[in-house]
Amino acid sequence: MLGRTRKVAVLAAAVTLALAGCAKEDTGGTTASGVPLIKTGSLTTCTHLPYAPFQSKDAAGKVVGFDVALIDLVATKLGVTQAIVDTPFEGIKSGTDLESGKCDIAAAGMTITDERKKVLDFSDPYFDATQALAVVTGKEVKTLEQLAGKRLGVQGGTTGEDYIKTQVAEKKLDVEVVSYKDLAALQQALSTNQVEAAVNDLPVWNEYIKANPGKVAVAAGFDTGEQYGFAVKKGNAALLKAVNEALAAAKSDGTYEKLYATWIGDKPTV
Ligand code: GLN
Repeated sequence: MLGRTRKVAVLAAAVTLALAGCAKEDTGGTTASGVPLIKTGSLTTCTHLPYAPFQSKDAAGKVVGFDVALIDLVATKLGVTQAIVDTPFEGIKSGTDLESGKCDIAAAGMTITDERKKVLDFSDPYFDATQALAVVTGKEVKTLEQLAGKRLGVQGGTTGEDYIKTQVAEKKLDVEVVSYKDLAALQQALSTNQVEAAVNDLPVWNEYIKANPGKVAVAAGFDTGEQYGFAVKKGNAALLKAVNEALAAAKSDGTYEKLYATWIGDKPTV
């Protein structure tokens, strides 16, 4: 049993530790080049996993991909290291995560749209994408019309979901659109025949096919003319400038092309 004096001493030590903890809480800072960061020494990135080849966990559990490599260039330029936060896409695209200070930057294979521009400041475009319809290999589907009476999977909150819902409404298609919470759930639904076909950005299907040869095929492409951008909190001009400068430098010195070849495979189009 502790004596009264010991008890008081233990309590006092606990209070001191708690106060020290408070004092040490990281409220961020500003880099030498004037970029505000929510955590000292880190560029905190919000993303939504998995979205290979842009961001996904490797065998060792490390988040890697094209977006990760590009944001690493920004972090290096700022003299800090990238810290990645996995969070639902809705909070990213709505601007909530950046506004609330969860992250400094969003990198999520995210398409630049007019609606999103109202709540986010986008970098220069860094990737061109289209939508694509994937089916289990051997299925004879080539058009949305051929999915009449069937289920079509999409990923919730994405431009692919918007595109398909608009097509189904405009063309009055008898297709049941089913939204999944992330890419992994959508791909699982497709490969287990819960849906007849699935729509997502073309590069993620190409990556899935590379990783799972022979299982799934791209049946059709929809040239939506999308471009990806990284996003910062509205008004964070200092960080946006650093991002655009890092992208421009990577494009002019061949780093972008090298990373593109590593993660995407084909020649860069932007
Ligand atoms: N490019 C798509 C969009 O911005 C999908 C992004 C994602 O799922 N990470 O909606």
